[in-house]
Formats: sequence, structure tokens, C-alpha cells
Amino acid sequence: MSEHRDSPWRRGRCHALWQHQSGLCFHCGSPMPDPLTQRGRHRKRPNAATIEHVLPRALGGMESWLNEVAACRACNATKADRLPSGMELWRLAWLKREDALPVTAEAAMLMGLLRSARSREERDE
Ligand SMILES: [Zn+2]
Repeated sequence: MSEHRDSPWRRGRCHALWQHQSGLCFHCGSPMPDPLTQRGRHRKRPNAATIEHVLPRALGGMESWLNEVAACRACNATKADRLPSGMELWRLAWLKREDALPVTAEAAMLMGLLRSARSREERDE
């Protein structure tokens, strides 16, 4: 929920994620316009690409390529700070896989982060 900072640097990062996902939202698969061409009020539209942290930063998710996806504003708004499902993590690991590494390496790391986020959440309740 920190899309207020609309710096060129952020837009560039959003664009890289967007491009990596062929311009489609990570969650609903809707096509999103190129974030580099979006200015001002266009960035507020429901189909605008935003950077989403699959494992929320509030729950220990990292601000890195592995944990970031391009998601449309509508999906990003409904997801808020909930934890991702195991299925979403697998899709994320698949999306972020490196040729040099098997997909399970990313998945294992993300699963570990999800587990610690869950136990942190339980502790706080
Ligand atoms: Zn979406």
C-alpha cells in the first residue's frame, strides 16, 4: 500500500516486473498498460500496474525481485496484507525461477518465509 511514491525509479521497477509477466496481472491475468506510459490520474485506474509484495512487507516479506510482482491496482487493493496461499507461492517461484536454479530452490525459500510470517502472526494474536 505504498504506491503514493510515484518516482521514476519505482515506475522503472514496475515496468521491469510488468515486462517479465508479459503485461499481465499476477493475480487475475488481466492485461495492464505499460507503467512507463502511465502518468498522473492514469496511475489511479483499476487496471494500472502496481508493485505488489506477495509476502507482505508488514509480515516480513522482502523488497526484492523474488517477492515482487506486477499486479493491477484492483487486485493489489483487495489483497492488502493477507498472507499468500501455498499455490500463489508456487506460481511466484515458477515466475521467478532462474535457469541456473531449479524452481524448488525459490519455492523452498519462499515457503520458509511464509512459515515464519505465519508463526509471527500467531504470536501477535
Ligand atoms: Zn489483477
